[in-house]
Formats: sequence, structure tokens, C-alpha cells
Amino acid sequence: MTKSLLTDASRRLDRALKYVTISEDAAERLKAPKASLKVSIPVRMDDGSLKVFEGYRVHFDDTRGPTKGGIRFHPQVTLDEVQSLAFWMTFKCAALNIPFGGAKGGVTLNPKELSKAELERLSRGYIDAIANFIGPDTDIPAPDVYTNPMIMGWMMDQYSIIRQQRSPAVITGKPVALGGSLGRSTATGTGAFYVLEAMMEHLSNKRSGKQPSSPKTVAVQGFGNAGAVVARHLFDAGYTIVAVSDSRGGIYTPNGLDIPSIQKFKADTRSVKAVYCDGSVCNLVEHEVITNDTLLSLDVDILIPAALENQITAANADAIQARYIFEVANGPISTDADDILEAKGITVFPDILVNAGGVTVSYFEWVQNRSGLYWTLDEVNQRLKKQIVAAADTIWHIAQTHKTSVRTAAYIHALNSLGAAMDARGTRADYVSGNRE
Ligand code: GLU
Repeated sequence: MTKSLLTDASRRLDRALKYVTISEDAAERLKAPKASLKVSIPVRMDDGSLKVFEGYRVHFDDTRGPTKGGIRFHPQVTLDEVQSLAFWMTFKCAALNIPFGGAKGGVTLNPKELSKAELERLSRGYIDAIANFIGPDTDIPAPDVYTNPMIMGWMMDQYSIIRQQRSPAVITGKPVALGGSLGRSTATGTGAFYVLEAMMEHLSNKRSGKQPSSPKTVAVQGFGNAGAVVARHLFDAGYTIVAVSDSRGGIYTPNGLDIPSIQKFKADTRSVKAVYCDGSVCNLVEHEVITNDTLLSLDVDILIPAALENQITAANADAIQARYIFEVANGPISTDADDILEAKGITVFPDILVNAGGVTVSYFEWVQNRSGLYWTLDEVNQRLKKQIVAAADTIWHIAQTHKTSVRTAAYIHALNSLGAAMDARGTRADYVSGNRE
């Protein structure tokens, strides 16, 4: 039987608790989600048949503000997965000092098997089912794996129909034409690049002149929204991207791939096959077709898992050869694998910091929707850089001070802010839902 993702995620919390002084009550409250909703979504298919899909929305903790987190459409979505993703959102928002709690949603399906009209009916049906569980002041969804601005637009529209008032701030990651923020669609990858640059500077300050040269070769697992954008930033900054992959496999060349061509080919064909250079891109550079497992164990300076959770576990951690890992996906490394990687001297930069650019610009989108004043792309990116680099610097210094992993440092930072908020809010939450009312 596979281990519970949430149980594994909580082990990270236990490690960080040793270094913080938050009350036992606050720590206890963070062990389980505040509320989990499971819904059935009936969808009329194009052939006239009715299909019922399973969906979830989980609020993990709302002490620091309305809960926030994406909606995933994927065949592997389970309640356990959504709960752990909501857990990570809670710590991500706290680590970035974003005034939100954590949530997540998901529907178990393969969206590639649905027509566009079926996908729209499913997206609207999901909002019908969870409408009373979300809201601009309570819980604000966003995109995640296999959901996108088009889907967020349908969902915002459906919520506005139900409430009989236009409600752009109920969901983020919308199309710009419907109140989305400039820079939101690239924010996860751009934020990851800012963190990587900041951490490279800290690492090089730490190194003496005789130490190994600065990192240059990179492998990226996942060429979706986040993976492709971070690969492009690194390519533009002069890194050699030796391998990229998608769910069907990857390509490798020690000379480095031409990321703009791969991006263009993928955008033109809308096909994952683009990653394999099925057409003209093949001729740009000689490459070898590799599996995702091979990609993860390549001898590179930087490995970027940007796909799904649990990609590096106790089963394959020993084979990892990268010097640094930047987690652009949520939860790509299990806790057991963390220990193996640490023993091998590999430094892991954790998801709750590295991929927090997405939720940071989601927060900016919500602020813009509520104020009615919209920012330029430059303004968005400058604010993103300021907020995520500040978190990266703080977390780096905590790791140096306590001599912990960067992951534990990120949890220490998040826990300090969560614990302070919980204790400041008092104890009312402990008795109002009990026998006294
Ligand atoms: N799904 C993204 C994440 O995991 C973004 C969430 C959001 O923007 O609310 O961080």
C-alpha cells in the first residue's frame, strides 16, 4: 500500500517544530485539515450520456486569512493528495508572508479525454457543487496541474451567475480579459528563477575561491507551464539545459537544448510530442530520447522536478547525481528521499519557497480585482521578485543559523508566522464548535 501523502508531508512539520517556540495547541491544530468537501459532478457528455465525476475542495488552515490554492484536473487526484496539497499551500503562503491560509481542489479525470464543451460543463458543474465552500473572503481557487486561465474564466463566470454579481476576486489565474493579472501565467516559473538566482548568490558567497565552479548544467522534469518557463529563463541566463521531459518521456543532449524552439514547437502544435522534437526542431540539435527516470538521475548541476509529487523516493534517491535540486512541482521528493539526498550532500530547495511565485501573483491578482486598479507587467514582476527573494534570503539565513536543511528552514519560517497568528487569535476556536454552543 502506498503511504499517505499527508502523513509524509506532516513529517516535515515535526522536524521544524523542534526549532520553533509555538504553542502545543497551535502545533496540534496543524495536524489535520480544517474541512474537506467531497462532491459528485454530473456532466452531460457530447454523446448524450451522463457521467459523474468525483471532486474535492479542502481548506487546511485559515488562521492567516482566506484559504488559497489551485484546482487540479488529473486522473490521480485523491482526497489524500488534495489534503497534502492544501497543507503545502498553508505553509507556502505563510513562508511568503501572503495573507492567506491554505486550500486545494481537484477533480479525478483525464481532461485530455474530454471535448472543450464537456470540459466547460464539468468546470461549471464543479463550481455549482462547491459554491458555498468558496468566496473572495473565504476561499479563493486558482489553476494547478491541467487547469488553465480558460477554465478559471468559466469558473469565475459560473460563480458570478450563482451569486448574481460579478465576482472576479473569487478565483485567480483568470484570462487577462476577465480581470486576470499580467504575469500570472508565467509567475511560477519566473518566481522559481528568482529564487534560484538568489540561492546561487548565497552559495557562491559561501564558497571559497578553490571550491567547485558555479553550476551550469540543468535537467528539467516537466515541460508544462512552470517547467517550460523556468527552463526558458535559465536558457536566457546562459545555463545549459541538457534535458527536458513531459509525461511521455524526455530528450537529452550534453550540448544543451534550444529551449525557445522547443517552446515554440509545443505552442504551435499544442502537442506534448513537441518535446520530442518530432518535426523541424529535431534537426536543430542531436538528441537522445530518455525516460523520466533517466532524466532524474542525470549527472547535472541542477535538477528541477516540475511535474507531479513523489518523483524522488527512497526507491530512486540513491541514483540522483545532481548537486542542487529546485522543487518547482509540489511535493516531488518524499521525506525518506530527503534524508538520502542530504546524506549524499545534495542540497534541496523546497517547493513551498521555489514554486511560490504562482500564489504570490495570485495574491496580486486578488488585490487588483478588489481595488479595481491594474498593474503593468513590470510592476507585477518587480513586486514578485521583492517578495520571493525576501523569503528566500530569510530562509537561507535560518538554515545557516540552525544548521538545518533549507526545507526545514522554510517550515521554521512558516511555522513562526502561523504560530504567532494562531496564538494571537486566542482560544475561541477551541470551544465554539464544542458543547458550549
Ligand atoms: N497551484 C499553484 C500552487 O500550487 C498556485 C495556487 C494559487 O495561485 O492559488 O502554488
